[in-house]
Amino acid sequence: MDAERTLPAGKLAAVIGSPVAHSLSPAIHRAAFAAAGVDWSYVAFDVEAGRADEALHAMRLLGIGGLSVTMPHKTQVAELVDRLDPAAAVLHTVNTVSWDGDELVGSSTDGAGFVASLADAGVDVDGAKVAVIGAGGAARSIIDALARAGSPDITVLNRSLDRAERAAALAPAASVGIVSDVSRADIVVNATSVGMGVDAADAVVDDLPCDPGLLRADQVVVDLVYHPLETAWLRAAADLGATVVDGLGMLVHQAALQQRIWLGPDAVIDTAAMRTAAESAL
Ligand code: NAP
Repeated sequence: MDAERTLPAGKLAAVIGSPVAHSLSPAIHRAAFAAAGVDWSYVAFDVEAGRADEALHAMRLLGIGGLSVTMPHKTQVAELVDRLDPAAAVLHTVNTVSWDGDELVGSSTDGAGFVASLADAGVDVDGAKVAVIGAGGAARSIIDALARAGSPDITVLNRSLDRAERAAALAPAASVGIVSDVSRADIVVNATSVGMGVDAADAVVDDLPCDPGLLRADQVVVDLVYHPLETAWLRAAADLGATVVDGLGMLVHQAALQQRIWLGPDAVIDTAAMRTAAESAL
């Protein structure tokens, strides 16, 4: 495959997805490159479902330095790269492609980005009991990362029980939960899409991932939904006095981890500039 790669890797990174026009990734990554004075560009490529193989072929051919991968390509790309990092191997999804010599490596930075966003907010997950509401792709990545980061007790609540069971099977520390687990958790996470696109002032009960009456003032409450930035559920948690973390933290930190993979461990990454850019783009 290397024979096709005629240019050195680097200088250009891109996101592949479909639809991709509204992705915040270009704004976030360009802000990071600009803040660090790194001479890289970042563009968005709309790639139809099922054609990620051609995008990776182009990456090899053109020497593109790194790819962010979003829906609908995360699973297909896991089949196409030369090797996977541990999280990507467990989840069988890839959100980042990078070079290691002439090999393409697939990584999954979503879960580690979630844990980093909590650390940024002063929240340590090591030893914490966590209730995760949801069992889709986002929930799966954070369940895996929470277990790696030392959470001994992760309960998974989801509308569809079979999906909750599959997500809980990702880590020995995880199990399918019941509603009262929300109240006994130290950290409660909405990893469903419930509340997305609903203005907090207009929200009805169906726009809340769980009854806010189950939450407590001494909990950390996290919503992965970032549009709107303050969901009705997060506002209710804040009104109770809980510590709240919005979904932009995970988005910014998973991108910061992508930057570190592409640019190397010594890269200077300005997550505050990335967040400001994301807020402007929202
Ligand atoms: P997904 O794979 O489609 O999973 C959707 C989840 O939401 C499933 O658990 C689904 O339950 C649940 N759900 C959907 N509608 C529901 C309803 N009306 N009532 C109860 N549960 C409902 O999506 P995903 O990729 O995991 O994304 C989930 C959310 O996280 C989205 O809002 C996405 O924007 C956000 N997200 C944020 C970040 C970030 O960086 N902040 C990263 C990734 C995703 P069933 O299994 O029963 O269908």
